[in-house]
Amino acid sequence: EVVVVGSCMTDLVSLTTRLPKAGETILGHKFFVGFGGKGANQCVQSARLGAKTSLICKVGNDSFGNDYVDNLKKNSISTAFVGQTADAATGTASIIVNSEGQNVIVIVPGANLLLNFEDLKRASDVICKAKVVVCQLEITPAVSLEALKMARASGVKTLFNPAPALADLDPQFYTYSDIFCCNETEGTHRTPVSCFLNAVRKLLCLDYASGLAKWCNGSHFGAEILTGIPVGNLEDAEKVGRMLLERGCKLVIVTLGAEGCMMISGDEPIPKHVPAGKVRAVDTTGAGDSFVGALAFYLAYYPKLSMEEMIRKSNCVASVSVQAPGTQSSYPYRKDLPQDLF
Ligand code: ADP
Repeated sequence: EVVVVGSCMTDLVSLTTRLPKAGETILGHKFFVGFGGKGANQCVQSARLGAKTSLICKVGNDSFGNDYVDNLKKNSISTAFVGQTADAATGTASIIVNSEGQNVIVIVPGANLLLNFEDLKRASDVICKAKVVVCQLEITPAVSLEALKMARASGVKTLFNPAPALADLDPQFYTYSDIFCCNETEGTHRTPVSCFLNAVRKLLCLDYASGLAKWCNGSHFGAEILTGIPVGNLEDAEKVGRMLLERGCKLVIVTLGAEGCMMISGDEPIPKHVPAGKVRAVDTTGAGDSFVGALAFYLAYYPKLSMEEMIRKSNCVASVSVQAPGTQSSYPYRKDLPQDLF
């Protein structure tokens, strides 16, 4: 089983011709609600490939929370450890996008930040019997770390995606991650300002309206936040990977958008570039989560494959997700994928 400990967010998206000024009310022409949050996204992708999955998360005792639970069930995800709390609202991202694709976004993590050690304890059986436990940083970081520790103590494989990137990541995250999978920016840096900018750039990837996807593809984030090295090419990605290995991970994967991934392993002296197939990307939002979810699936169900092969297959899955709009709505199901991926 794949167990994901992480976030659920409801995206509330309004499309307008221009962004409102302070105090102004304007008319929009379209509104839609999307299911997001890195934890849930990754779990959904794993489930759609056929993994038995559990999501350990917290939503509000509100209609968004109820809808989210339904969405997880529709994706065949076990909701036994989805907590609903009256003390905070379901996490939301309120997004306004103008006709040029510019946006303003307010994220309220809400219930996500109330997921706690007690919740993990209640789920300890499922965590300790999992094949793979997957964590990110959209919940309280100490809770993610604890989940990784519980998994490690039971010999369960740990896959950690340090997103959104944190400037002062607890060094224990490196030692408790069997696989440390970051994107270009998550791998590098340290100041709160660049973290903030990074977050904003990441959020801009919520491209619902226009050509922003292209812009997002050209930008390089994650690895940079952790190491201070901006990743502009494959050599930078190698350098960042080696740096992260030295901090105690066994294997580092740096995702590189259209370039695929760089894999840096403690067991192999030569880093490996695993390219992604050439596709026509229409919206890369959530591609990283599709990749992580797919990787968790392969780790759990095809443990005999080489890591390179797992990454190659996960690239294929994620590259399908960039060819359709939206986040979870773009994630492929097993039946829609080439059967040689299974
Ligand atoms: P994030 O969404 O976290 O920024 P990336 O942009 O690095 O992550 O993308 C994650 C993975 O998605 C890549 O490693 C690759 O497999 C796939 N991917 C992303 N963009 C493209 C693209 N334009 N073409 C093909 N595959 C892509």
